[in-house]
Amino acid sequence: MASSVYIHIPFCATKCYYCAFNTYTFHKEQAKAYLQALRTEMELYASKTEPLQTIFIGGGTPSILSANALSQLLTDVHQHFQITPNAEITVECNPGTVDNEKLSVMQDYGVNRLSFGLQAMQDETLKQLLGRIHTVAEFLESYQLARENGFENINIDLIFALPDQTMEAWQHTLNEVTSLNPDHISAYNLVMEETTPFYEWWQAGELHLPSEDAEADMFQYTIETLTAHGYTHYEICNFARPSHFARHNLVYWNNQPCIGLGAGACGYVNGIRYSNIRAIASYINKLSKRNKPIADTEHLTGNAEKAETLMLALRKREGISLADYQNRFGEDIEVVFGDILKKWIDLQLLEWTDTHLRLTRRGLFLANEVFVELM
Ligand code: SF4
Repeated sequence: MASSVYIHIPFCATKCYYCAFNTYTFHKEQAKAYLQALRTEMELYASKTEPLQTIFIGGGTPSILSANALSQLLTDVHQHFQITPNAEITVECNPGTVDNEKLSVMQDYGVNRLSFGLQAMQDETLKQLLGRIHTVAEFLESYQLARENGFENINIDLIFALPDQTMEAWQHTLNEVTSLNPDHISAYNLVMEETTPFYEWWQAGELHLPSEDAEADMFQYTIETLTAHGYTHYEICNFARPSHFARHNLVYWNNQPCIGLGAGACGYVNGIRYSNIRAIASYINKLSKRNKPIADTEHLTGNAEKAETLMLALRKREGISLADYQNRFGEDIEVVFGDILKKWIDLQLLEWTDTHLRLTRRGLFLANEVFVELM
């Protein structure tokens, strides 16, 4: 049973050059058929949920849907699932795709958290380098509109270590964003994904990434600046005002069950991790026969579940709770991982606190090496 649901809306106006998410160009008719298929998928999973604590509608660009379509989607969610009164309901929005009508529909259906993909505060970077559809001014307008419509919990997504990005450019982005006082900021370093134009250009020598040292300096600056502005650094890439931690993301980092709905969505229910068919037409076709559109499953048991639980929890700044691990697996964390933990502790990548095991400050910068070895 799960008390969290992720819903994937795989449509965007155009594809950003660095993006490897499962998204396609928006077509109104296809979106209509897709939402019908989603409704059927909700029916198939409705009995597998407890009252929902978190709902995350992501993508893609959910806010590219019309106000009517959003209203239909949110009606379906409310009809198929029980939702706790204090549930966190997030919708991802792209600047330039929200208006008063859409925001008011979201408010009416209890959406209480918005996540804006901004990425950078320079028009040139947005349009020419990243292939984003919006300008800085359009972002500011959308953000302002969201505040005027009563949204009190807003996240802004940023990316650093972009090709040719200077420290000054990143500082400018962070300073402008903090001046808006968002409740949550996600700051990810760019990852080159093989299926993207970015990767192709990089391989061809047309894109030049900052050095590892420059990237580490940007990360260091991010941590210092955001914590100085009162944000809690609670996950490697995530910073929040007190009481604004992303509850849905904490479900992932705590390796707790979550139902994933939509093309390419991933879920984790009853110890089984699954991913859905990615292609929209196949996804719709499967659901037209009332079959679950699952492409892959993996039964997570034994040491695989322990390793995943450890790896995900180490992303949090507090690390993994020793008591929670003991309760979940009935044994001490050192039973399986004693040798490897000793190695990382000796290398000063991990440290014990009274109640947790966590990445050190140095470990934060080398987290991927730790995770790769754990996998
Ligand atoms: S808007 Fe987001 S999901 Fe859509 S293409 Fe750009 S990065 Fe990918």
